[in-house]
Amino acid sequence: MTWQDIIRLHVAGPSGKGNDVVDLSWSDVPGSLSELADRMNVRLDTSFPVEIAPSWLGARALCAIRGRRGMRIRLGGALARKLSPGALEGVLAHELAHLKCRHWELLLMGCLLAAVLGVAAGLAVSFPTVGRLVLGGALLVLSAAAMSWAAEYEADRVAARYVG
Ligand SMILES: [Zn+2]
Repeated sequence: MTWQDIIRLHVAGPSGKGNDVVDLSWSDVPGSLSELADRMNVRLDTSFPVEIAPSWLGARALCAIRGRRGMRIRLGGALARKLSPGALEGVLAHELAHLKCRHWELLLMGCLLAAVLGVAAGLAVSFPTVGRLVLGGALLVLSAAAMSWAAEYEADRVAARYVG
């Protein structure tokens, strides 16, 4: 079974659920996913490792919610339909790398750090209040962007070690 077959079966097929997110169990996804996750040493949710967002043209790593579910990958059906199996494998490796590197913690910390920096910079200069807010907000956006760029770069580098 390829991802294309799976999406046809679970999303577009007669049992398809329209535009709602579809949870896929381990028996629904290609064996290559558990192989890849094992090699990368990432523990995905034991029941539903993947969820498909039918019309979405993207992919995203979802972190675990304590007591409710484990780590999983949300895959856009529209993206999966567009990509070749090899390219899709690369996308999955990239998302697994985010989970492996615990990037949600980094991004969260990045946001906190950026907020603190933004407030500090805003208070340090004697602009009118509006100016401070704009400057603080701009710093916040810039540091968040730098953090997420670093996370994307690292995920690509880690993913490249596992898929060609
Ligand atoms: Zn990414």
